Amino acid sequence: MDKPALTQFIKNAIAGAGFDACGIAAVTTLETEMTHLNSWLVAGYHAGMAYMARNVEKRANPALLVENAQSVVVSLLNYKPPQRQPGNVPQIAYYAYGVDYHDFIHEKLAAVIAAVKAVAPATVLRGFVDSAPVLEKAWAVRAGLGWIGKNNLLISPTLGSFTFIATLVLDAELEYTTRQEKNRCGKCTQCIDACPGGALRPYRLDANRCISYHNKRKGENGVLLKNYCFGCDYCQLACPWNAKTPPHRMSNWTIPEIVNFTAGDWNNLDEPAFNTIFAKSVLRGAGFAKLKANLDACNGKPL
Ligand code: SF4
Ligand code: SF4
Repeated sequence: MDKPALTQFIKNAIAGAGFDACGIAAVTTLETEMTHLNSWLVAGYHAGMAYMARNVEKRANPALLVENAQSVVVSLLNYKPPQRQPGNVPQIAYYAYGVDYHDFIHEKLAAVIAAVKAVAPATVLRGFVDSAPVLEKAWAVRAGLGWIGKNNLLISPTLGSFTFIATLVLDAELEYTTRQEKNRCGKCTQCIDACPGGALRPYRLDANRCISYHNKRKGENGVLLKNYCFGCDYCQLACPWNAKTPPHRMSNWTIPEIVNFTAGDWNNLDEPAFNTIFAKSVLRGAGFAKLKANLDACNGKPL
């Protein structure tokens, strides 16, 4: 299969797997991004996420993940929910409304990889979603899918920032996206203004002050949670680029209790019910005790 044909085949396979957007970048060393990452680490903004300081070389160079890597295929999957939780209950970040995205997306990537292997068996490719030292947002920018906003997230002009980012690194040359999106944050500071803990400066996130860091990690309890018992979306909900984006297209992804639970349901949640309802959710990673403490904190008790 020649380069244009393989490129189109992969794009079709990604669309067929249900992703909402796709772009392709040529492998290069991410010098500028690494400088930014290193200064962020030196400032201690990664808080207790020691893993962020490991494998820095691999983050800069995908060829250390896939031998002779030539191309990075970046896919976006919209997760903006069609139905939100009621406003008067402890809030869950949108990305956690459904089945654990790692599992869900790895299944999709496995289907794409199998399809590529069927037509180009010699191709070496690996799929990643938030599980390996890949700078997904930087590759998404290089693949023409959006820009990194002042909230530190990828902003797609059509999908906003409520998207999962998946990457495929492969050793075949492909046709690359030539046009990159310009940064359209302009003079806006709405994400920074909306952050309750002052965790955001333009293009810098201090995890030490971030609700989403504290309410997911056992042993972390340093900030007021406001009304979020898992994750936090204040900065994304404030972003004008998320105002008119479409809802996601993932049938059977949402865990119904998350959008249907009343405040009483959350307060009365016990461990057996948690283990059943959230068996396939990212909430299980935090665990019942952490969620319960967060729920109490959302109700005004100290964490
Ligand atoms: S997730 Fe919440 S706490 Fe963290 S930067 Fe965004 S608004 Fe601030
Ligand atoms: S809220 Fe404004 S400044 Fe922040 S990411 Fe969105 S457009 Fe950019």
